[in-house]
Order: sequence, then C-alpha cells, then structure tokens
Amino acid sequence: MPAPNRSRSDRPLGARLLDALRGRPRRLVSDAGPRYASPDGHRTSFPGPSEIGLDSHPPSTRWDDWQEPAAPGTATGRRYDLVPTLCFNCESACGLLAYIDHDSGVIRKLEGNPLHPGSRGRNCAKGPATRNQITDPDRLLYPLKRSGARGAGEWTRVSWDEALDDIAGRIRKDLLQHEGRHVVYHVGRPGEDGFTSRVLQAWGIDGHNSHTNICSSNARAGYAFWSGIDRPSPDFAGADFILLLSAHLETGHYFNPHAQRIVEARARGAKVAVFDPRLSNTASGADVWLPSYPGTEAAVLLAVARHLIVSGAWDRTFVRRWWNWEAYLRAERPELEPTFEAFESVLHDLYRDYTFAFAAEESGVPQERIEELAHLVARAGTRFASYNWRSAGAGNEGGWQVARCLMLLHALTGSIGTPGGFWPNSWTKHVPAPPNPAPGPSWWQELHMPREYPLAFFEMSYLLPHLLREGRGTIDVYFTRVYNPVWTNPDGFSWLEALTDESKVGCHVALTPTWNETAWYADYVLPMGHASERHDVQSQETGRAQWIGFRQPVMRAHYERTGRAFRDTRDVNPGEVWEENEFWIELSWRIDPDGSLGIRRYFEVPADTPDGASRPETGPDAAADGAPPVAVDHQAGRSTVRKMTVDDYYGYLFDHGVPGLPEAAAREELTPLAYMRRYGAFEVTTEPSARYLEEVPEAELVDRVVRDGIVYARSGGTSYGPKADSLPDGRSPVGVDVDGRALRGWPTPSGKLEFYSTTLRDWGWPEVALPTYLKSHIHKDRLGPGEIALLPNFRLPVQIHTRSANSKWLDEIAHTNPLWIHPRRAAELGVQTGDLVRVRTHIGWFVLPAWVTEGIRPDIVACSHHFGRWRLDDAGGGNRAMSSVVGLERDGSTWRMTRKHGARPFASSDPDTRRIWWSDVGVHQNIAFEVHPDPISGQHCWHQAVVLERAQPSDRSGDIHVDTDLAHETYRTWLAKTRGAHGHSPDGTRRPRWLPRPLHPTAEAYELPMEGDRVAVDD
Ligand code: SF4
Repeated sequence: MPAPNRSRSDRPLGARLLDALRGRPRRLVSDAGPRYASPDGHRTSFPGPSEIGLDSHPPSTRWDDWQEPAAPGTATGRRYDLVPTLCFNCESACGLLAYIDHDSGVIRKLEGNPLHPGSRGRNCAKGPATRNQITDPDRLLYPLKRSGARGAGEWTRVSWDEALDDIAGRIRKDLLQHEGRHVVYHVGRPGEDGFTSRVLQAWGIDGHNSHTNICSSNARAGYAFWSGIDRPSPDFAGADFILLLSAHLETGHYFNPHAQRIVEARARGAKVAVFDPRLSNTASGADVWLPSYPGTEAAVLLAVARHLIVSGAWDRTFVRRWWNWEAYLRAERPELEPTFEAFESVLHDLYRDYTFAFAAEESGVPQERIEELAHLVARAGTRFASYNWRSAGAGNEGGWQVARCLMLLHALTGSIGTPGGFWPNSWTKHVPAPPNPAPGPSWWQELHMPREYPLAFFEMSYLLPHLLREGRGTIDVYFTRVYNPVWTNPDGFSWLEALTDESKVGCHVALTPTWNETAWYADYVLPMGHASERHDVQSQETGRAQWIGFRQPVMRAHYERTGRAFRDTRDVNPGEVWEENEFWIELSWRIDPDGSLGIRRYFEVPADTPDGASRPETGPDAAADGAPPVAVDHQAGRSTVRKMTVDDYYGYLFDHGVPGLPEAAAREELTPLAYMRRYGAFEVTTEPSARYLEEVPEAELVDRVVRDGIVYARSGGTSYGPKADSLPDGRSPVGVDVDGRALRGWPTPSGKLEFYSTTLRDWGWPEVALPTYLKSHIHKDRLGPGEIALLPNFRLPVQIHTRSANSKWLDEIAHTNPLWIHPRRAAELGVQTGDLVRVRTHIGWFVLPAWVTEGIRPDIVACSHHFGRWRLDDAGGGNRAMSSVVGLERDGSTWRMTRKHGARPFASSDPDTRRIWWSDVGVHQNIAFEVHPDPISGQHCWHQAVVLERAQPSDRSGDIHVDTDLAHETYRTWLAKTRGAHGHSPDGTRRPRWLPRPLHPTAEAYELPMEGDRVAVDD
C-alpha cells in the first residue's frame, strides 16, 4: 500500500526533523574529502535517508591516525587509532569503534562504527558504556580458585596453567570413563556464531545448555511449527504497517538496528501498533496502543485473522500454494473433497467465533481499536511487518500460540519474503561454515533435554536443580559462561542448593568478565573479555540484508598496527583477562595432549602454515570422511603440526565462508582477515533470497517423482528444503511441487507452511495443531482468591540482565525496579508511591516500594527484571554501584534474604565511585518465582499470580522469603502437564528430527531408551 499523502505539517515529527536536517548545511569534522565517501571510495555512512546525522564519523581512511578537533583551550586535539569491534551488551551485535589514544595507548571511548551494516554508526546507551566495563574497578582481572567452602567467598589467585591443567584433567577423566556425560557448558548470551558448539562437538559431548527456555522458547516454537525456522526478521524499513508485541522499539531484541528502521518507515508514513499492558515509551509513541490483558494477544490476533478471511482481504493464491491445507483436510475432514474450495469453506468456519466483540471482551481492549488494527493489517497487505519475541510469548503458558497466530496473519496476507514483510531469520543471517567441523554427539544429555519435553526449544535449562534433585544425573565440570542462573532464572534458591552440593556439581567454572551471584558459588572464576577484548563472529537479522560482524580484542589490533609483539590476548587485555576462543583451544590441547582422544586434531594446523593463512585441507571437506585435517603421526612426535590460532580459525572462515569478502579484500590488497580486522563488518548482500521460492536446479532433479506434494530425486537431497524422510527407493526430498514447478519450499515435514502441524498432532497434542488461542496460566479465570497478575519480564532501555550492571553511566540512569501499580489498585491496597508492598508468590514473598502510575492496566502490576543485584561481601564479589549487601539464612528448605545496605559511595581507582548518590538497587524478584515450564515449548512462563499486601513493620525493601520444597512441588505440578516421548513418540525417537536443536546428535542418540532406563550415566 502506498504511503498516504500528507501535507508537510501533517508529517510525523521524525520526518519533519529529517526534512530540516536535509536542508541544513552539514558540518564536516573531517577534512578528508567527500562527506559520505572517502577518496578511495569507503563510505563513512549508508546511502538513503539514514545518512543524515553521520557526519561526525571519521572516514575509514583515517582510522590509523584520527585527530579530533582541539578542545577549547588546547592547542591540538587528541590523536587516535580507531579499531572496530562489536558491542556485546545485547544480541544486536552493533558495530563499535574503539578510540585508542596514540599517546597513552588507552581506550578513551567507544562510538559507533559507520561501516557496520546493521547499526550504521548508531548505538544505544549501552554501546558506549562498554568503556565503563573495561575500567570497572570491581571487574575480574586474574584467575581465582576457591580456597574455602563453596560460597564462603575465600579465593586464591592462581595461574592460568594451574586452572587449565586441573579442569582439563577432570574433563579428560570423564571423557575416558563416561564419554564426557558429566561435562556441561551452560551459556547465557552466546554472542557468537558457532565457535563453542564446534568445541563441544570436537569433545564429542552433548554438553550444550543455554538460556533459551527463560527467554524465547515460546516464540521460537510458534514460528518453527509453522515454518521450520524459529525466528522472525522483519523488513521494517519497507513496511507500511508495523505491529509490535511489547516495547520492542525501545528495548526489544535488536532494538537499536530495528528502531532506526522503524523510525525510517514512520518517516515515510508507516503506521505502528503496539500490544503492551504498560504504557511503555514504545506504546506511547504508537498510532494504535493495544493494552491487552497479558496472555490474550492471540485472541485479538485471531479476530484480525477472522476479519481478513471474512472480508476477503487475504491472499488466496498464496494460501493455496503454500499452506499444507491438503494435509489438514486429509486428516481432519476426510469426508470433504480434497479441494482448495472445500478448505476455504472450512477456514471460514474455523475462526467463526473470534469476533471483534469476543476479542474485546477477552483482552479488555476497546473493540474499535481492534477493528482499526484489522484494517491496518488488511490495507498493508504484503507490506506488513511484525515482531514478537519474549513479552507475550515468554510470559504465558501457551504463549507459543501467540507467535503462531501472528504468523497466521502473515500467512494469510502473503507478507512473507516480501519488501516490507516478514522474513525468517535464516534468510537474513549469514553463518560461515567452520573449518573441519566435528560430527554431532552420539549420546543424549537428559539433564538438558529430558524425555518429558520432546518438543522443547531447547534445553530445559532452568529445571536443572530439580532434575539434579530427582537424581537424574550429576555434573562433574560445569561451565557457566556469561550466565548467572542464581539471579537470572526463576527459583534461584534451588540453584543455590544445587551449586553448594558438591555431590551434584563437582567443579563449577565461571567464565565471566565480572562478578555475579552465580560466580560466587564457583570453584574457579576465570576472567574473560568484554566486547573489546575477545574474538567472535556474529551475524544478526536486523533488516532485509545479510551481514557479518567481527568482534576483536581492539588492543591486539592496535599492537599489530603499531608493530608491538604479543603472545596471546592476555598480553594485550587488562590484567590476565583472556578471550574465550584461545582458552578453548588451549583447554582442548590439554584435554588431549597426545591426540589419542581424537580431539586435538580439531585444533591443529600444519606446522609450516603461516599464522592466519588459509588451508583448504582444514575445511569441511577434509572431515567429511572422518579423516584428520592434516597428516599427523602422533607416535613420531609433534613436528608436523602446531596449535591452531584465532588467526587460523577466522582466516579460514573469512577466506571460505563469506561470499564476496575475498574479492572486496583483494581490491584493497588485504587478506579477508585483515579486511575484517580493519573494518569490523561486511555486508554479504542487500538482496537476500526468499528461499522458499527458489527453483530447484535441474541438476538436482535426477529421476524425480512427486509424493504428497514433495519432490524427491536421486541427487542426494538438500539441507534447506522439506524435512521428509527419503523414499524406500533411495530418492531424497529436494523441494515441493507448486503448480507443476519444483520449488525449494520450507524446512518442514511437508515442505509447506504448516497451518496444520502434523508434528503437534503426532506427538500427542492434536487439539492445538492449528493456530488457536490458549488461556494463560494467569488468565482471570485461573487466578486464585485475591490474586493479580504480575508482569516481571519487561526491559528498560539502558540495562540488560547481568551484563550491564558494571556500567556506571547506565547505573546512574536506572538502578531500581519499583512495583508499577495503578492508582485504583493502590488505593484499594492503601499505598502511595514509595510505600513498601509485600508481594506473595506461590513459594514465598518479596518486598519492594510501590510506584503509582496510570501507565498500567488496573488489573495487573509489573516490575522490571533488571535489578535487585546482591552480594554477600561488603568489600566485593559484585558490582558495588549496583548491588546491595545481603544476609542469607537457611533453615531446611526455607531461605531468607535480608538487605543490610544498598549501594553507597566507595573509594576506588575510579573517582566516580565516591559520587554514587543512589542506594536503592531494587529487589531480586526472580528468586521468589516458582518454575512454570510450558508443557510443549518448555518456556518458563514468567508471569506470576501474586497476592499484594502492605508490608509488615519489620519488612525492608529487598527482603525475600522462599521455601524450596514448595518450589519443587510446583515443578512437579507443571511436569505433570507434559506428554512425554514415552507414550507419545510416534516413531520411537526422543524428539522430531526436523526440529532445530543447538547441537546435532547422531540418529542413534535420538533413539528413545526403554521406559525406566532413565539415566545410565552414573553407573
Ligand atoms: S542495541 Fe545497544 S546494547 Fe545492543 S548491541 Fe547495539 S549498542 Fe550494544
């Protein structure tokens, strides 16, 4: 739909601002020629309207020696070496430029990298605050080993060698005795695309555990059951209508790269609608605000779907070609003719009850606003973009149906793979294949993916304490990496009980740049790098394009540019801070010093290879037949190989895995690795393919046949197309037949979009196989006496989980999380802003001050999840600007946390720590939440049914009380909702092979053991 005509004064403020800026002479800081392109053609900003405001970015030709204008009163400005890297403070991976002072060698600031295709020179507040993290006086600088009881806070500084040898010895022993079944790597935020998974697969273990189930499992499940791809990637910039579930514009996933594209769309006249029960900044700026009661979003979306169907505003051809409607008719309506016309008639009936009036009644949103939403979707057609990730999905039992119902709107309007429409992330993300990948593990880690949750996305990470408590296994080496489950997960006291029980967790190794609540209960605390201190590649789905970014230790690049020698990253980072990739390579060598375990070969290169030079023999082809990448005679000595370096690894990736990069580098007489070190990012394409429409090449159609719409051939199959089994005669699926053409289709069992999920049907959930509305666990019908829904999972723009708490600039802006409560509810409770409230959950209670505001529905309350950091030691063990000192008392299963004092000024290397003026750092609400695993997706459903009380006289803000026996009972109650693989697996496997999973075990590992043969690990 074309943007509506507007008079100039009618245009949105953002558009008028852009107009004004366009007409204004621009100030050039640089004297290096053209404003947007350097003399050698390097653009310093991106074409199109977004280039406005990027004038101050130094041109890349001068990054080796950039001189700032002189400050008032000084003769000359500072001179800098500018080195690109990627921000690590959220998943967006925006580009940063480190400003390294030529004179002092100190990183003075970090600003946006204008050559980064995702962020285009812009950052949110958390990007520049990386500098705070580098200079944080409370950061970890040296390896520490526990010297007292676990959690007692007694530490001894040790060498890296000592830590490596001890950890490697434990892993080696477990590999030799138990195939490594007691080794677990538990990651919070990966911030990288594949390096660590390759390490785990090289060790041969199914040891990956993630944070996904406390974050995005519901959204992933909803998208994947439709399409086989579990993440949305909208083309906001090209959209006419944008629908956001939650405060995505200000705080959501990829919000800086997304926000700038949404702003551009609005400047063109696009409309924005926002579901949010709070009046967030995003909601306040929307054209249509939909403050639906939490968990009712799907009801509203289905009313929109009904409108599209009834009014004929749906793309009949798209639906006919791309939905698996035949499978639905065959299975559910066998009495009907298998024609599209018959399905069309059924479709009208299926959503008959989802009227606007029903949606309004269910959600509490005025009917006319839902009608307006429906008309906006209908008018936008294929230029309709949306985003749903955590919020509505992560909050609610059945929240995965929110994504499924949202996707229904795209599947009805055909706004998939279109300009301004919905794009699945695998079309807009580029992950290069690593060198010499190892095969998947041959066994299945049931502590991560228990058989009760065969459809979970992915590991049931937050249930680990309960699974350990039930005796389902033990862990001998437990890595936590950028992960703080004691604080981030629900039910943190159960985590404390597990982590302090050495019979359950043998050796806990915390890989972290900074102290956190979980690291305090570790055996080793190993200092890892921040964004400017480590290597990673990352590609994110931030728009209709593909790019790859390179995070690097900026001082290492500075040393290289200035000709200074170094051994590894420890020589260039503060203290003995290491980067993880070098750590993993070194650890792998120590686990397998003689190569006899078959691990070391994945971290070797020929001895005569210059560092960073690419070697085809280490590529994927070399490992295909199981042969080592290089000829190594392990008996005859080690002279033929040397240890792989990060330059070897990334040199290979950039030489072989990024289309167009070698050519771009060659034009500048650089190697691809040198190009990425210099510019930090590369745009692979601005015209990604809508892959489902790709024609299957004739060469792949050898001896083709079509069965149930799937095209099979004898060409070996495809990694992207239908996920059907091969035919008995050996033909493999290569695509789908659409009106007589062989197209690639979707990575689903049918090769089509699965409106009707045969997977849900076959694995025990036939009643939810279609997109439908499920009542949340906090639906008003399900609340107990006096209960009200608590929203505990909203973000603020300047904080993010554990990672940002050591950024003083951010801490000063936002440091506490009061209870959002509507004036009507506050009056009923008899509290005003600042009064303390005791919030009772099903396993305990916590105390926090009220914030009375009309910016929230009267029938819910809310509390942001960023705050309530704590430590036990007054002198350290946490960021002192952002944590309170607490006391912990335990009596059997009863835990009590009492706050001794909040943040206060202290003396340190940073004079600003004397200026801390705030004391309230919020309450750790998550620790008082029971677990709520969705029985299908496995998502922890964050919303809580709580009872509000006025605080008692002895209560202090931040006080917490929890009973972990109650927590375990609640876990068992939710576990009983599952329909496990035993009794529901249609084919004797643990999980549908086609569903995504972080590691890829062998077919043998997928075989479901006999019932009762629960864990063989500890025999
Ligand atoms: S959005 Fe902000 S925190 Fe996230 S990567 Fe970009 S600059 Fe960093």
